[in-house]
Amino acid sequence: MNSSNKKINPSVCIIKSSYQNIDINTLIKPFGSLNKFIKKGEHVLLKINLLNATEPNKAVITNPKVVEAVAINVLKSGGIPIIGDSPSGPFTKRKLQKVYNMAGMTNLSNDLGVELNFNTKYTKLTIPDGKRLKNTYVCDFVLNADKIISIPKIKTHSLMMMTLATKIMYGAIPGLTKVRYHSKYMRRKALAEMLIDVLSILNPDLIIMDGIVGMQGDGPAAGNPVELGVMLASDDSIAMDLTVCRMLNIEPIGIPTLKEAKIRNMWPNEISFPLLSPDDVKYKSFTLPSTAGHLLTDEKKPKKDPVIMQSCTACGECVDICPKNAIKINDNMAQINYQNCIKCYCCHEICAYNAIELENKK
Ligand code: SF4
Ligand code: SF4
Repeated sequence: MNSSNKKINPSVCIIKSSYQNIDINTLIKPFGSLNKFIKKGEHVLLKINLLNATEPNKAVITNPKVVEAVAINVLKSGGIPIIGDSPSGPFTKRKLQKVYNMAGMTNLSNDLGVELNFNTKYTKLTIPDGKRLKNTYVCDFVLNADKIISIPKIKTHSLMMMTLATKIMYGAIPGLTKVRYHSKYMRRKALAEMLIDVLSILNPDLIIMDGIVGMQGDGPAAGNPVELGVMLASDDSIAMDLTVCRMLNIEPIGIPTLKEAKIRNMWPNEISFPLLSPDDVKYKSFTLPSTAGHLLTDEKKPKKDPVIMQSCTACGECVDICPKNAIKINDNMAQINYQNCIKCYCCHEICAYNAIELENKK
């Protein structure tokens, strides 16, 4: 597993692709090869998205063609792939078998001789920097892997807006523990904080995004498939999700996990695109969930503005966090340019001096 330290200048590789023609070598060529990430004989978890027992054409789960292409390349590199996820609901062998069968993973496993995970044990881990979780159960199949390649899908999510690379490691938590967390952290902010806590201890070594057919609308289970025709690869989950947002014309601060990552200073300073850039594969008519708020739709704008109080110490934290460069320090006090402010309230959340209040200005 990767350390969760912020990468200064990560790369995201993008190629156009169809399910008939997935070229992992070309996709990861800027990194060298898969051998940069895995050594001969290492157990490599292919952490896919298997939300529930669904056929691949509904775009709910990672497509088996993508999993197959990655597994073949891991085998060629001398690694030992194992395919796994903890779907929603009870984490049992019976449930796993059903999900694997429907998802096309059983056939894939038989064809390639690649193992599917049936280990349902889990272990408690501490989360040193956790905001919501100080410890959590994590599935042993994740902890037993030498390396992790996560293979998320570009999908919407009614609560989290998008479920991409920053959210996929939540599937390392056993199903019923996830049910408990969902009822405990029902609000977007709390759930996002918890998801970033999980990512902070379970960061994959490589992310390969299935963006050939994504899901739009009211995901993660009831949205509609949408042909996007791309594959992406990166060794940085945040850079990956920021890139997908740029490609789909989505304001990244409107994605709760990315907003939380911004507050924790996890956004890279710059992202390199050694192959195609997200602007080369722009998709402008992507449909967001009907629950999307003002940051994504420009509708339902909240009335309150962030207002700087006299207690401001001019520490500059809000200047650094503002995604729209709407704050400057003038005369030893922060000053907001309301023309540029999108009311994301990151500044309000980060100010350690409680010097930003939310008020109806007029
Ligand atoms: S973070 Fe708070 S104290 Fe620091 S400059 Fe901004 S408003 Fe002032
Ligand atoms: S609320 Fe406005 S000023 Fe504050 S961080 Fe967001 S965009 Fe910047």
